[in-house]
Amino acid sequence: MPSPIVVQVVVDKPLAQGFDYLWDKAGLGLDPQIGHVVEVPFGRSSLVGVVIKVSTHSDYEIDKLKAVTQVAPLPPMDPSALRLMNFASQYYIHGLGETIIPTIPQMWKKPASWEKLSNSFLDDENKKPKKKESEKKSAEGYVPESELNEAQQFALKQMKDSCDQEKFHAALLQGQTGSGKTAVFLHWLSTLLDDTKAQALILVPEINLTPQLERRVRAYFPEKKMAVLHSGVTEKKRGTAWYEAITGEAQIILGTRLAALTPLPNLRAIVVDEEHDPSYKQQDGIRYSARDLAIWRAHDIKIPIVLSSATPSLETWMAAKAGRYQHLRLDQRAQGAALPNVHLLNLRDPQNQLSPGDKVKPGLHISLSKPVVAAIQKNLNESKQSLVLINRRGYAPVLSCSACPWLSKCHQCSSYMVMHKAGALGGKPVLSCHHCGLVKGIPSHCPDCGNADLKALGQGTQKLEDAIEEWWPDARVLRVDTDSSRKSKGAEELFQEIHEGNVDIVVGTQMIAKGHDYQHVGLVAVLDSDGRLFSQDFRAAERLFAQLVQVAGRAGRANKNGERSGDIYIETQFPESAVYQYLLRHDVDGFLAHLAGEREEAKLPPFCYQALVHAEAKSLDKATRFLSKLKERLQNQGLIGSGLKAYDPVPRSMMRVAGIERAQLLIESADRKRLQTVLEAIDSDLRSQSQGRISKEDRIRWLIERDPVSI
Ligand code: ADP
Ligand code: ZN
Ligand code: ZN
Repeated sequence: MPSPIVVQVVVDKPLAQGFDYLWDKAGLGLDPQIGHVVEVPFGRSSLVGVVIKVSTHSDYEIDKLKAVTQVAPLPPMDPSALRLMNFASQYYIHGLGETIIPTIPQMWKKPASWEKLSNSFLDDENKKPKKKESEKKSAEGYVPESELNEAQQFALKQMKDSCDQEKFHAALLQGQTGSGKTAVFLHWLSTLLDDTKAQALILVPEINLTPQLERRVRAYFPEKKMAVLHSGVTEKKRGTAWYEAITGEAQIILGTRLAALTPLPNLRAIVVDEEHDPSYKQQDGIRYSARDLAIWRAHDIKIPIVLSSATPSLETWMAAKAGRYQHLRLDQRAQGAALPNVHLLNLRDPQNQLSPGDKVKPGLHISLSKPVVAAIQKNLNESKQSLVLINRRGYAPVLSCSACPWLSKCHQCSSYMVMHKAGALGGKPVLSCHHCGLVKGIPSHCPDCGNADLKALGQGTQKLEDAIEEWWPDARVLRVDTDSSRKSKGAEELFQEIHEGNVDIVVGTQMIAKGHDYQHVGLVAVLDSDGRLFSQDFRAAERLFAQLVQVAGRAGRANKNGERSGDIYIETQFPESAVYQYLLRHDVDGFLAHLAGEREEAKLPPFCYQALVHAEAKSLDKATRFLSKLKERLQNQGLIGSGLKAYDPVPRSMMRVAGIERAQLLIESADRKRLQTVLEAIDSDLRSQSQGRISKEDRIRWLIERDPVSI
């Protein structure tokens, strides 16, 4: 009798190891290979898994092993993809199965439909020409790329000269918004992709950025097949794009962070656009950084990677300064537009405040500073657009009682319920919690004292929109935030309105600032950025600075040489703070050097490495005690001290969400390996007393997070 074939399979469970199954070659119709996606019996049901080992023996009794029931009609994941998954699993202290399986689109995780998929994907060759034609159509009508200017050509040459075949190379491409970074990396990719099989991966931070870039990339590579991977497309589209990517059929893979873990058998180059963007960090499940994994991947398979940004992350910028990454600069705006003038408006200065005499109509009130009102008026007269940014959606951030201390607190979270006006979320005005999603009607009386006079405090996008419409009744005002883009029109349509010049004043959240190449914007006003100067998160200032530079980049993009450049107005009570002062001088490098100094002094990342152990429970006390006991055990094992620091457990900054209390234990070390060892020890300690990631004794859910981006 021939010896049986045993395969080890990992499934989507928080388990450290895989399970052995028998492989019935005759029944399944093929030989097993590492990377095969399979269906296996599991407990009383079945699961999708991935084969990670093939052998002829098992540590378990062969007779008792169950057998693989089905193989997905997919090529086995290629070895380099599995190495990447393995690394991610180890580095982020996450089970291998729960790392790999979530990267497979839903469409391919339904074994019941595998046979059907196999028919439509493997046999139906007639479909392909049809697809190509529809693609061609969508690439028609787009403006071709211009010739590169001198600075761009120089950057491109430097990149090409240092990218040898089969060598890892990382470059930071730094240049202000509009300096032509995208044009440079597209040119660069085209020189690398002359081989018909070669694949390139372009990572972008968010879905709402993708359509514009997608059209541009498509137009740039009309001959190549492109796969677009992000969670905003339908399951079927994503499943198809993923299939085309992993089979090597698609050469250009454009996607958000989830694309970083897609198997790409012929990958030759990677671009991470807006590399500083926090949305590259996955915030649930395996909490990976897509940018960091992309760098590891490039290093592992010996290919070049370009990180592009106007405001690099401190980590990347320091690596470039230290010479570990090539540092390429583009210092002029590609179309010759000048940098916008930055105006800091000190709100404490009475001159900047509107006085009653400034009101057009009696009783009309607008909470904008006087210079901003004047500048918008001027812009209207000149038929230019104005963007007014406020980082709060809804009508007002909180509802209050005029007779007692009642505030519209969410009873499930440590936050307030935001007031939304009628028609914004359904018919009536409502209170909505932006953390847990709870929606309630507006109470007619104060729930505590019965007083009927309830007041909306502060302002969000909706209130500002109302005020602006009243103040400038003839202007065309458009609100852009996640509420408005969900409701009637999609975000893309709203942006189209702006691009076509059908709008005079846009009121919106940060959402309007990202990546869009507006041609008619002359002014940007930022209303409430001070809050983020004093956040307990040490990265808040870095992020605020990056956002403001982005925002400033929206003003006066299309101004050709000689014309008035755009203006950005920032209303603040703290004009002297470093973020604003460096912004005033457009001094990105100066700001980063300043940050580096601060972080070094405080021994914060990138001068150390951090990890969090999260604990969630019904009571904060339980969660905190769970972490204290963990810290005590680590101490007893001698793991803490001499270069490894464990802080006391504290509540998370958003302590309570949807009725769950959250605490965290921060662990820090300047030695990455040391941190790894301790995190592995924590993982096995907690696993030994847990079922999955829930402790058996007191039912506490725990999770380890490496390199957290918000503390
Ligand atoms: P970035 O990625 O740095 O924001 P882009 O590559 O998107 O810059 O370029 C900004 C704008 O300038 C785009 O509209 C682009 O088409 C245009 N552009 C880029 N390079 C050139 C060039 N060499 N000559 C003229 N226009 C250019
Ligand atoms: Zn009251
Ligand atoms: Zn809530």
